[in-house]
Amino acid sequence: MGRSALSYKIGVLGGGQLGKMLAQSAADWNLSIHVLDPTEPCPASICAVHHKGDFRSYEDVLQFGSAMDLITIEIEQVNLDALRALKKLGKQVFPDPESLAIIQDKGLQKLSYQKWGMPTADFFLLDDWRLLEKRMEVERFDYPIVQKLRKDGYDGRGVQLIHSAQDLSRQFQAPSVIEKKVSIAKEIAVLAARNRSGAVVTYDPVEMVFHPEANLLLYQQTPATIHERQASECRKIAADLIGSLDIVGLLAVEFFVDTTGKIYINEVAPRPHNSGHHTIETCITSQYQQHLRAILNLPLGSPKLLQPSILWNLLGAEGHSGPAFYQGLEDSLSRDGVYIHLYGKEMTKPFRKMGHVTITAPELESAVNQWLEIKEIVRVISIAD
Ligand code: ADP
Repeated sequence: MGRSALSYKIGVLGGGQLGKMLAQSAADWNLSIHVLDPTEPCPASICAVHHKGDFRSYEDVLQFGSAMDLITIEIEQVNLDALRALKKLGKQVFPDPESLAIIQDKGLQKLSYQKWGMPTADFFLLDDWRLLEKRMEVERFDYPIVQKLRKDGYDGRGVQLIHSAQDLSRQFQAPSVIEKKVSIAKEIAVLAARNRSGAVVTYDPVEMVFHPEANLLLYQQTPATIHERQASECRKIAADLIGSLDIVGLLAVEFFVDTTGKIYINEVAPRPHNSGHHTIETCITSQYQQHLRAILNLPLGSPKLLQPSILWNLLGAEGHSGPAFYQGLEDSLSRDGVYIHLYGKEMTKPFRKMGHVTITAPELESAVNQWLEIKEIVRVISIAD
């Protein structure tokens, strides 16, 4: 390892749970990690130097980054102009601000997939929401359609299904992507990593498993229950995309597999990703260490999956808002292969991501059975209620 890379002062925009787990991994190599986040304390405060400030603000990002050698992100919605200015000042910035500019805008993402001949749902870009039906006619689109805000949507906010003209009253009144609805059979995610020398690795696909009726994400499982040839296709696309987007670091690629087995790219995120938390316990190299290796231009580690896993997001229980209390921890900790991660958010509220649980087992089926029990035991509630 080059001594210089390990002595870099690394600045991370965002100090949420992804920043926290990145900092935990960085501690293995005594790396100097600083995070910029408006919340005090933020999840990463416990293991990184926290600088209070807004990663969306030009001044805050510029000031924070000026004191660093290398700047990276754990959230995409950061100030791009400040990153461009930092790059001009000679700072290393990963991912590159121009790659990030494409990813921050779902419209530019879709145009890029189209340009590179990569599979994605048919779409058109809509600037003036009042022209939706006219454009649908020209583009030969029928209902149902999916409308996505081009910017600033996350975790499903900023995406809606429009079944028919009757739904038009709740259209987003901002520039958006209009997509044909895909008959989704499975949702898959693949992580790719690329270092500055251009070496690329990809991880085994992860499958999001939904409640059959409620369309609610139950858990993520690895390996995904797709054909080997589909898995290879997803991994090949992820490897091509990380190169085409010129990303140094991690790229999480989300896919749909439709009911005929066809694969579509949904969207990408150029950072550690929720779908990769299990890599901490189940892969030779965790996504967090892989990100550090990539941005420091160290050799990438093996992404090999050592055992199956279920990854369950610990969401705040319905009807509970206030200081967080974790019910059922002791019981779950007495079980083999159950790994609890708490993000350290002081306040819980319904559906807030408060932590996650990774359940590993030699067979996926045993991990699912363990999950069925754990989900009845562990709950994030508020003691104030
Ligand atoms: P976000 O960026 O908020 O995560 P996504 O683009 O991933 O939003 O969309 C959220 C969810 O909406 C997807 O996980 C999928 O279930 C559904 N969805 C998105 N696009 C389509 C589509 N073209 N057809 C069918 N369902 C879709």
